[in-house]
Amino acid sequence: MNSASKPTVFLVGAGHAHLHIASQAKAYAELGARLVLIDPGQFWYSGMATGLLGGRYAPEDDQIDPGALIRGAGGEFIQDRVEAIDVAAKTLTLGSGDSLRYDWLSLNVGSEVDIGALEPPAAGPSVWPVKPIPPLYQFRLSLEQAMRDTGQMPAVVVVGGGATGSELTANLAGLARRNNVAPNITLVTSSGRLLPDAPAGASRALARVLADYPVDVRLSIRARRITARGVELDSGECLACDHVLAAVGLQAKALTRQLGLTASRAGLRVNACMQSVDDPSVFAAGDCADFAPRDLPKLGVFGVKAAEVIHQNLIASLCGQPLKAYKPQRIWLAILNLGDGRGLLTWWRLWWLGRVADRLKDWIDRRFMSRYSNK
Ligand SMILES: Cc1cc2nc3c(=O)[nH]c(=O)nc-3n(C[C@H](O)[C@H](O)[C@H](O)COP(=O)(O)OP(=O)(O)OC[C@H]3O[C@@H](n4cnc5c(N)ncnc54)[C@H](O)[C@@H]3O)c2cc1C
Repeated sequence: MNSASKPTVFLVGAGHAHLHIASQAKAYAELGARLVLIDPGQFWYSGMATGLLGGRYAPEDDQIDPGALIRGAGGEFIQDRVEAIDVAAKTLTLGSGDSLRYDWLSLNVGSEVDIGALEPPAAGPSVWPVKPIPPLYQFRLSLEQAMRDTGQMPAVVVVGGGATGSELTANLAGLARRNNVAPNITLVTSSGRLLPDAPAGASRALARVLADYPVDVRLSIRARRITARGVELDSGECLACDHVLAAVGLQAKALTRQLGLTASRAGLRVNACMQSVDDPSVFAAGDCADFAPRDLPKLGVFGVKAAEVIHQNLIASLCGQPLKAYKPQRIWLAILNLGDGRGLLTWWRLWWLGRVADRLKDWIDRRFMSRYSNK
């Protein structure tokens, strides 16, 4: 059978789940099928992104080469971006203009910040969304340069007090400390406490850590817009700043809403087998999937855990066998890196602040990277 006539599974986006499936490419070859991964470049791991901003990790610590991963496992890689998908014709259109026919498709293209009212004006502070990850490293370089040149930290306003905004704030403060300058950071959140979904004790512990750095935390107030001077709050006050870090929540990449299949900002609506509720040949995982059986938070861990189910379901689809259901966990471990050698661990209603939590997070993250890295 020549390669054009083999059944073909395309993996669109080298997200967390697709790294696992790519590493299993041999299983597809053994069935006489092609497994092809398409991504514009490197995989950047969000679990270590806060430490990348805070100066703890180098950019190479945070990256995996998805092409080397899938080729090493016997699959194929196309370095490009998927611009459009025609589910009726079962074709993908790439940035290069090439059109490719698929038999099965899996999407793991991730999410982006829903920047909404925080669009930057023509002149004013630089606005840094928390995703994609590579610009966070540019942000760090820009801050480090300014701190070296002036001996001061440029003023930063972080908008968002959830896990991502809080963890990045702590790491910005840690970056200032590493450069022997005082932090110049204000965190603004519309919610009444940091980490509104975590136990109240964990929120209070985090508030104490940020106060000690010190970081100015403004609770229960909304950032209305960004002006040439800084961030204007609902109260009318303007927080003058040089940089804004936008951590205001993630929405699925727009591609998932352009297929003509049921989808929303939460992602492509998928059933328990991670298949589109409208099209059994299209699967989705991670932040771009909206799991119909129940709401799942936009966390890397859910993509990682769904990966093996999607892999088995793609193989079952190729063999004409029944599919399996993904049963996501109800309780999960979360650890925030606080930029000072300590971590804040939460699990169900329990929490712990200390160095052991940080070391555990570092170990988990490095183990994930080493599993898929050929360094
Ligand atoms: C700063 C930060 C820290 C975080 N820390 C944690 C944490 O510690 N633990 C945790 O569980 N979650 C964490 N999260 C949440 C986490 O980022 C997301 O849940 C996770 O990245 C989603 O992974 P994914 O596999 O869906 O997509 P991603 O990891 O974002 O991968 C998507 C891939 O798709 C590719 N792609 C995009 N569009 C296209 C296209 N059109 N064609 C081809 N390829 C495309 C991209 O290049 C990318 O490689 C953090 C988020 C942020 C922003």
